[in-house]
Amino acid sequence: MIPDINAKRLMNTFMELCSIDAESARERAMADHLTALLTGLGFAVTEDDAGARLGGNAGNLYATLPGTGLGETLLFSCHMDRVVPGCGVRPQIKGEYIVSDGSTVLGADDVAGLAAVLEGITLFREQGLPHPPLEVVFSVAEELSLLGIEQFDMEQLVSRCGFVLDAGGPVGEIVVKAPEQVRLSAVIHGRAAHSGIAPEEGISAIQIAATAISRMRLLRVDDETTANIGSIRADGPTNIVPDRCELSAEARSTDPARLAAQVAAMRQALEDATLTAGGRVEISVRSNYRSYQLDLNSAPVRRAEAAARSLGLPVRHRSTGGGSDANFFNECGIPTAVLCCGFEKVHTCQERMPVEQLTLLARWVAAILAGDEH
Ligand SMILES: [Zn+2]
Repeated sequence: MIPDINAKRLMNTFMELCSIDAESARERAMADHLTALLTGLGFAVTEDDAGARLGGNAGNLYATLPGTGLGETLLFSCHMDRVVPGCGVRPQIKGEYIVSDGSTVLGADDVAGLAAVLEGITLFREQGLPHPPLEVVFSVAEELSLLGIEQFDMEQLVSRCGFVLDAGGPVGEIVVKAPEQVRLSAVIHGRAAHSGIAPEEGISAIQIAATAISRMRLLRVDDETTANIGSIRADGPTNIVPDRCELSAEARSTDPARLAAQVAAMRQALEDATLTAGGRVEISVRSNYRSYQLDLNSAPVRRAEAAARSLGLPVRHRSTGGGSDANFFNECGIPTAVLCCGFEKVHTCQERMPVEQLTLLARWVAAILAGDEH
């Protein structure tokens, strides 16, 4: 029997967390608030030094709670930060949704996950229901290409069954496949010259960049691969042929071979265009996180699926084009599924959380905690 959640408390927690300022690398108030809540539930909470290392003001929270029932240790993880503009959020209910006042994001990404995890665990604690040993990781700087979790010491985790609550899509859907992301940065060097008097003597770094970009396959490359130019920077007066242009780009794929081919093609386009023009280019490539594909028989997928079915939720396994902290947990050998949270239009000021989805998400957490007991 899965106990029913306290919908009013869940809503209050959600609203309260949304109204706490928590832009990436500025999670101090959120970390303090969550530490107090977790401690109140009986967790032992520690905070790492990711904040200091990243120039932020809070670290990742790691919390443990001994089990009161049988079963393997479960890991629940969400991120504390949100994208800009994410300060001074005024959450409000509008029809069937919780929304911001339109001047900020709502922060449901990832407050919905935080609130659902807290409600699920609170329920078991207050009713004295048996639950397995628990580990909770609330990360910082997730929205900065997972910089926070990258600093987290994975060695301390004992769980071999993890859940990251951090994806759009209806509650009940489970992300089992996510891409690797590679960041490509380039500095193109041309040659300055007077653009009116002696343009023949100049080599335009901007023109090289434009030529290279026009030859790249970008955006949706294939069903598993995407690529994008994020910025192109060159600043100068019109009477000088520009001798420097900086460019940053990314590519993602759930298929390592396709990703390697895409990155190689982008690099080649830059090198070819530079060579033809007689310039010089420095390219650096960095993998931000690795892809993963979960076995459908793995512990987190089976457990999340069984719990969703027990609630009558439609279950679907899907892939995503986005990374999450689950990429790191999986890379470190902790099978971790991403649970869809139901939030919509994230990373915009129109972000909204369907009230019903929030309730279902907390019920899902409770059902996962209950495991085979139901
Ligand atoms: Zn998120």
